[in-house]
Amino acid sequence: MSVLVVIECDNGEVKKSSLEVATYASQVAQQLGSTATAVAVGEATEDNLAKLGEQGISKVLYDAEPRLKDFVNGAYTKLIATAAEQEGAQVLVLANSNIGAAVGSRLSIRLKASLATNAVELPRTEGGQFVVKRGAFSGKALADVALTTDRKIIAVKKNSIEAQQEAGKTASVEKFSANLTDADFADAPKQVVMQEQAGGVLLPEAAKVVSGGRGMKGPENWNLIEDLAKALGAATACSKPVSDVDWRPHHEHVGQTGITISPNLYIACGISGAIQHLAGVNSSKVIVVINKDPEAPFFKAADYGIVGDVFDVLPKLTQAVKEL
Ligand code: FAD
Repeated sequence: MSVLVVIECDNGEVKKSSLEVATYASQVAQQLGSTATAVAVGEATEDNLAKLGEQGISKVLYDAEPRLKDFVNGAYTKLIATAAEQEGAQVLVLANSNIGAAVGSRLSIRLKASLATNAVELPRTEGGQFVVKRGAFSGKALADVALTTDRKIIAVKKNSIEAQQEAGKTASVEKFSANLTDADFADAPKQVVMQEQAGGVLLPEAAKVVSGGRGMKGPENWNLIEDLAKALGAATACSKPVSDVDWRPHHEHVGQTGITISPNLYIACGISGAIQHLAGVNSSKVIVVINKDPEAPFFKAADYGIVGDVFDVLPKLTQAVKEL
């Protein structure tokens, strides 16, 4: 069974989540005694694509069509499906990102493949079936799903696997064309909104996030969140009520009805830790909670907790980070 992995690129760089799925795909290929090929989407450079050899990828297909720089569902789906057909891929791996979620379902229909989203570990064979463990119910439960079609698609949850780095190994980069036409770009968004945060870090991809809730009292105090975010090289986020009252833009709202993130570090400042908020952040690797109420529910989910007033703690924390 050959394996094809979808690599998302932005501004020439391979996204961190794609380094993770490249590693995942090459480990699946090893399990199956096969090799992993990649197809790149977005704006890439050949040098950066060649470096995917470090994650165990042998070959990368890249269509340099300029309109593929930004996400267009129809065009991306056709490109990936064409690569899958050409390579005879039986297993398709992608990141469980906004792009992965959007194209995953379309690819599933187009390729008549079963799809497991939110995969948290490598697949295994059980009773002759190909089984994938996936997060369910906003990450509160894990479910084993058997993918029974010949072709299988796995969308891997961010931060579920560490990107391996075998320095010096390179992948061959091959020009590839899916013969895309204007019709394939018909569903292109009219405007692409870059959701850039303080310090230029995009929230969905950020390794560190500093987030504020109603305990911040008002938008005039957000400089405290932004100062810490800048010192750490982090993105900023917020709870739903904060964006509901326009203290912060809606694209910063994390949780059940907002963005789901899995950074290495999530610092929650003046956020109570309601279940709907936790649903979007509880797979963060390390959670730090700053809250003046020692009974705040968020402390139960925290790795480190500071019981204190955000207006005292944040300036001191930012100063301490700057002095590191
Ligand atoms: P609060 O609950 O008011 O908490 C403020 C916290 O700040 C308190 O714990 C308080 O002790 C602390 N505090 C106050 N002053 C200070 C200070 N000076 N220093 C330190 N700490 C201080 N919420 C989300 O965030 N994301 C979602 O996606 C989401 N989806 C929802 C979907 C549904 C269907 C529903 C019903 C609700 C949803 N909610 C969501 C809302 C959620 O239930 C909570 O109401 C919300 O998360 C609370 O936001 P908060 O923690 O900022 O505010």
